Amino acid sequence: MKRYYEKVDMRSRKAMVGFLAGHFRYNTMNSWNRSTSYANCVKVHRLDLPSEIMDKAFEMLDCSEIYDVFSRLLRDWADAHDWEWQAGFNGRSGGYLVLYHGGLDWKNARTAKCDHCGKLTWHKKATPCTSDYCNGTLQVLEKPVPQIFSQPGKPVDQDEDFSEWDIETLRERVKLVQEFDQLCDQIVMAFVSFCENYDVVDAEISVSKCIKVLEPAS
Ligand SMILES: [Zn+2]
Repeated sequence: MKRYYEKVDMRSRKAMVGFLAGHFRYNTMNSWNRSTSYANCVKVHRLDLPSEIMDKAFEMLDCSEIYDVFSRLLRDWADAHDWEWQAGFNGRSGGYLVLYHGGLDWKNARTAKCDHCGKLTWHKKATPCTSDYCNGTLQVLEKPVPQIFSQPGKPVDQDEDFSEWDIETLRERVKLVQEFDQLCDQIVMAFVSFCENYDVVDAEISVSKCIKVLEPAS
C-alpha cells in the first residue's frame, strides 16, 4: 500500500531542501492558472492496493459516507493548523490532495446562532430566526465564529529558492509538509478500512413528495 510520509533528517539542510524541492506538486486550481503546491496523487489505481481491496475500491467511491469521513479528517487537520493551512481534493474526479494556504476572517465573523437550526448570522441582539419555517431564536454568541477562507489560486513555495531560508524556517516547512503527507496516509487508510469492513450494496429509498390534488369545492 502506498505511503506518503517519509522521514527527513532535520539536521541536514541538504536533506530538507531536497525533500521540499523534490516533493510531488499539483495545481492548486486548474492547469491554466499555473499555480501549484505540495500535493499527493491519491488515485485508486496508484495506491498499490491488494487485489481483494481493489475489487471493491471503485464501487466504494460511489458511497457518500466515505466522503463524510474524509471531510472530517480534512477539517480536523485544518483546525489543528488554525486554518492557516488546509488540504483539499483537486483534479478531475478529485485524484489529488493539495496543500492550501488560508486563514480565518475575524472581520466578517458571524455573531449570532439560531438555537434551533444552527444558522449563523451577523445579528447583534437576539432576533427570531430568519430561516424559513424555523421557530428558533438567533442568539448572540459569546465568541464570534470567524469565516474560513482559502486561497486556491495562490501557489505554495512554487519556484522557491530554499537556499535563502534559514534552518528553522526550513524545519518548520518540512514538518508541515510531513504532516500533510501523514494526513494523506490517514485518508487512504480510512478508505482501505471501509473496503475491508463494508460491502457496497444497492438500496432503494422512497422519497415523499408534496403534490397538488383537486378536491371538490365546498
Ligand atoms: Zn433557525
